Amino acid sequence: MERGFIIRFDLHVHTNQSDGLLSPEEVVDLAIQKKLDGIAITDHDTISGIAPAINHGRKYGGFTVIPGIEFGCIHDDEEVHILGYFIDIHNKFINKLTARLRESRVKRGIAMTNKLIELGLNISMEDVREFSSDNYIGRPHIARALIKRGYVENVQEAFEKYLGLGKPGYIDRYKLSIEETILAIKNSGGIAVLAHPGILKNRDITYYCIEKGIDGIECIQSKHTDSDIDYFKTIVNDFGLIATGGSDFHGDTNKGNSNAALLGDYFIDINEISAFKERI
Ligand code: AMP
Ligand code: FE
Ligand code: FE
Ligand code: ZN
Repeated sequence: MERGFIIRFDLHVHTNQSDGLLSPEEVVDLAIQKKLDGIAITDHDTISGIAPAINHGRKYGGFTVIPGIEFGCIHDDEEVHILGYFIDIHNKFINKLTARLRESRVKRGIAMTNKLIELGLNISMEDVREFSSDNYIGRPHIARALIKRGYVENVQEAFEKYLGLGKPGYIDRYKLSIEETILAIKNSGGIAVLAHPGILKNRDITYYCIEKGIDGIECIQSKHTDSDIDYFKTIVNDFGLIATGGSDFHGDTNKGNSNAALLGDYFIDINEISAFKERI
């Protein structure tokens, strides 16, 4: 392997601006420690981690931060995640849209916590607020509160017992359709990529996304098996799409947590994605 010629980018990274544990600055520091040449910050429904990461990254020569975002859609009763890259963080529409999505998240977070209380659990909004922020609540924050209260051992178990789609504590929030999401990303100058399709129960949703104009598919992913990677790389080749990759790092390092993806272990060679390389 010609190690020296690979430009390592992790194109799927979360910070504490959504449901990650590390600040944008800490994520950049860790990425450099892990010998990555660049990362894309792809927080759920917010772009607030991008500027701090870019500014911090500038202190290191030659390190690149790509602006990104991850949106969640529901399609045929499945959660479908779509990544947007190179979105303009000053774009008014994206700023309004993400503000609306976060507002709905906070309302839903409060409603889900109340539902858990009604189910008889000893948990409060103060518990959740210990892990979340004022303008963003994600289910992992509620999961961390449930761990603290001793109801579950890890985030995965919290989703299985209480928080997952269809579980007793679940409440839906405002989401865009797949079509609307792809349009929102493209209209704000971005590249739309289907995230971790390997975890879809119905893989045909991939073809629906292609029909609706998705630009790429995330092939390398901590949630993917080797056969998932082969499967989606074939689709990428068949349809002339972009193959991306990243860790989906959330900062968790404890074992038994499905988010225990490690920064530095999942990357793509940016030389192989011309659509990205020319925009860096
Ligand atoms: P939300 O953004 O509130 O809809 O929560 C979804 C987020 O929770 C995902 O983006 C993941 O970070 C995390 N997540 C989803 N499912 C699981 C699971 N089964 N175990 C652990 N984390 C999960
Ligand atoms: Fe997440
Ligand atoms: Fe995701
Ligand atoms: Zn993610």
